[in-house]
Amino acid sequence: MSAVLTFTPEGIYCPAGDFHIDPWRPVPRALITHGHADHARSGMGHYLSTDIAAPVLRHRLGDIPIDTIRYGESRQIGGAQVSFHPAGHVPGSAQIRVEVAGEVWVVSGDYKTVADGLSDPFEPVRCHAFITECTFGLPVFNWTGQQDLTAQINGWWADNAEAGRVSMLGAYSLGKAQRLMHLLDPSIGPILTHGAVEGTNAVLRAQGIALPDTTLVTPDLDKAAKDRAIVIAPPSALSGTWAQRFGASRSSAFASGWMALRGVRRRRAADRGFVVSDHADWAGLNEAIKATGAEKIFVTHGYTSVFRRWLEEQGYDAHIVSTEYEGEGLDTPDTEAETP
Ligand SMILES: [Zn+2]
Ligand SMILES: [Zn+2]
Repeated sequence: MSAVLTFTPEGIYCPAGDFHIDPWRPVPRALITHGHADHARSGMGHYLSTDIAAPVLRHRLGDIPIDTIRYGESRQIGGAQVSFHPAGHVPGSAQIRVEVAGEVWVVSGDYKTVADGLSDPFEPVRCHAFITECTFGLPVFNWTGQQDLTAQINGWWADNAEAGRVSMLGAYSLGKAQRLMHLLDPSIGPILTHGAVEGTNAVLRAQGIALPDTTLVTPDLDKAAKDRAIVIAPPSALSGTWAQRFGASRSSAFASGWMALRGVRRRRAADRGFVVSDHADWAGLNEAIKATGAEKIFVTHGYTSVFRRWLEEQGYDAHIVSTEYEGEGLDTPDTEAETP
């Protein structure tokens, strides 16, 4: 039986339907899992994404020829039957299911199995072959639960507010920033945002996704507005001159899966690290893979060789494929553009 999907220099390709999924070079037809820049690139002849992901794609890529599809809706493309299913990664993110002559392959894009209260929760899709990332494919990566995370972040913010410090929270601008905002207790103080974060907020609000009130940080923002404030900004902005407008009395924190590693926390000189990610942790990866029922697994990026070996020991037919996707970074977070 010929493969449902193949791995080409342009990206993941479906010969039966003559389309690519999250290609990294220009192709005529691209199916896109979500709006992060390593998955949604410019220059494609035509795009297909979920209706929820499309506004962010337009915001980032401009006036592109794009068609949308709802979660669970089925579409015939050439000899392939295609549908998109929630990946729980960021609002609108999808796993793409491709069926050709009864054989089902799923491209997961980026995903997490824990519900974040903002994205449609991850939905396991049964398949014969599953293509997965493994950014955090080591047992040391174990995320803080949503409830504990909420208490930790609000506790840190409240302590800072009492002590007259501004709370600076680094989180990438599509997904993580909004997800954390969603957990904040606005009775503690005002929520201020960097332009890159606020740009995404505006797109999501316009499509009906509820977010707490935020104030964009501008050069003329008065001093009173900064009192008891929490500032949400891309991680790179926290160490630069941008952050200096908040004075010397500030506390910086990063919210990232990498905060699980003590060495990374130390090197970043962050006052606090919150262990959270929009990618699956070790347990999440294993749980998601098992739930697909797939025998054949392809790992695309992350701790690929260790994780492939682990899967093989569990009885899977596991392979590494080389792609141009990137996992969660700290300074190049999901390779997004940090411009407003
Ligand atoms: Zn992503
Ligand atoms: Zn990615």
